[in-house]
Amino acid sequence: MTGRLRVSLVITLFCCLWTLAAPEKTALAQGPGWRNVVIAETDDIKVGTSTLQVDFAEGTLDLPKTAILNHIGAAAGAVATYYGRFPVSSARILVIPVEGRSGILQGTTWGDMRGFPAFTRMRIGEHTTEAELRDDWMMTHELVHTAFPSMPDDQHWIEEGLATYIEPIARVMTGELTARKIWSDMVRDTHQGEPGPNDAGLDHTHTWGRTYWGGAMFCLVADVQIRRETHNRKGLQDALRAIVDDGGTIDHNWTLPQAFAIGDQATKTHVLMQMYDAWKDKPVTVDLPKLWNELGIQSGADGIEFINNAPLAKIREAISKPAGRPITASIVRH
Ligand SMILES: [Zn+2]
Repeated sequence: MTGRLRVSLVITLFCCLWTLAAPEKTALAQGPGWRNVVIAETDDIKVGTSTLQVDFAEGTLDLPKTAILNHIGAAAGAVATYYGRFPVSSARILVIPVEGRSGILQGTTWGDMRGFPAFTRMRIGEHTTEAELRDDWMMTHELVHTAFPSMPDDQHWIEEGLATYIEPIARVMTGELTARKIWSDMVRDTHQGEPGPNDAGLDHTHTWGRTYWGGAMFCLVADVQIRRETHNRKGLQDALRAIVDDGGTIDHNWTLPQAFAIGDQATKTHVLMQMYDAWKDKPVTVDLPKLWNELGIQSGADGIEFINNAPLAKIREAISKPAGRPITASIVRH
């Protein structure tokens, strides 16, 4: 069975069986189903020195194209803010309007596609509203995928885990979301990443829960552990920026130890490699209630409360701190 066929099956499983809105990411060098698409308009989004070419396929959208471009620009700005710059020099984003539907329906990102280091295809319902754009996490999730090298299938969990974990943090950094909102969501959702019966570790258990939330749980625990070991001076962000700076972006195929070695070097810890060795082929359970408690997050009837004298409260604050100077994108209509 080829890698391509296997990845297609995964997409079907995630997008059709689990949730219609689930995004996917794959390193396929071959073309996805967009060759016959007719482009009605092409615009650019500039983020620092990077250019995102946005192609609108033919079809109608109730919203003006500017609203979609602003939304993509906000996502690109959030990703650039987290990583210090937009991870790849250029990217193509194909927006496909879907007749009769509403909402951001599906996103997929590929590396090294026809001259572009990254290519993202977004299916957006014809009747999508401003409110649906404001609620959308998928655009940012997809662009986070540009910021990590493409992995073999068994390590796909880290690609989805990173995108799942970083998307809300990047949007807090630009002020789009509040810290309260993202921690509340994390408390609600992260337990879906815990191993179930017969789990054989992240490298061998390719379920939706373990891929997206198991991966995100790995990232959260790694972030907290790096900060504990460095007295909160370094975090997962430093490791990930170093990987991108070393050329570890979606258009390159690396192994996970290759990427983690660079990440660990940047934080002067062994957290990523040690955690990978422990989690890859064994079901590691995380005591999440204890972790939330240590981070100073208390759940109540009215949502969550922050406890600022909790032992790891400063680490929680550092993870979800708004950026002093968020990077913004500018739209160039053609
Ligand atoms: Zn994804």
